Amino acid sequence: MSANSTIRRTQGFRKSTVKTRFFAKVRVAPGTDCLEWAGTRINNGYGRLKVYGLDVVAHRFSYELFVGPIPEGMQLDHLCRNRACVRPDHLEPVTPQENTLRGETLTARYAERTHCDNGHPFAGENLIQTSAGHRECRQCKRDRQARYRARRSAAKLAAEHATVTPTGVEATR
Ligand SMILES: [Zn+2]
Ligand SMILES: [Zn+2]
Repeated sequence: MSANSTIRRTQGFRKSTVKTRFFAKVRVAPGTDCLEWAGTRINNGYGRLKVYGLDVVAHRFSYELFVGPIPEGMQLDHLCRNRACVRPDHLEPVTPQENTLRGETLTARYAERTHCDNGHPFAGENLIQTSAGHRECRQCKRDRQARYRARRSAAKLAAEHATVTPTGVEATR
């Protein structure tokens, strides 16, 4: 359920009431000009609220309430890099690709790099472009999978061994 449709569904209610209720959960973040969501937060740091029984993301809702509809397929970028901020003029609609590149994340730094942490080239056969716009090293992925398989078979062996000689469990750990 997108915030878009939430706004449409709440249009029957008085917008001023919605705004008042919304601002009751907003605080000025100390030392900034951000307006932070003081209510529930999602794991990723974004604010969340219930509007007439619907779960909505706080900053998206704020943008639609005070600015207007978020264009189809666009994400809202926090210009202030504060994910809990719901101040409309700190938000800008961008494409998901742009948003990923702007983020102060590993992904953004990765996008500028020509090699992975282990020195494998981000090029040709070795480069994996994920659907989310991330880049991954094929060699490292292969190595990770190999390590994972090795750990699993080691764990399986240990488990089998433990079943056969239950008294030896303490000693093998
Ligand atoms: Zn802000
Ligand atoms: Zn690599």
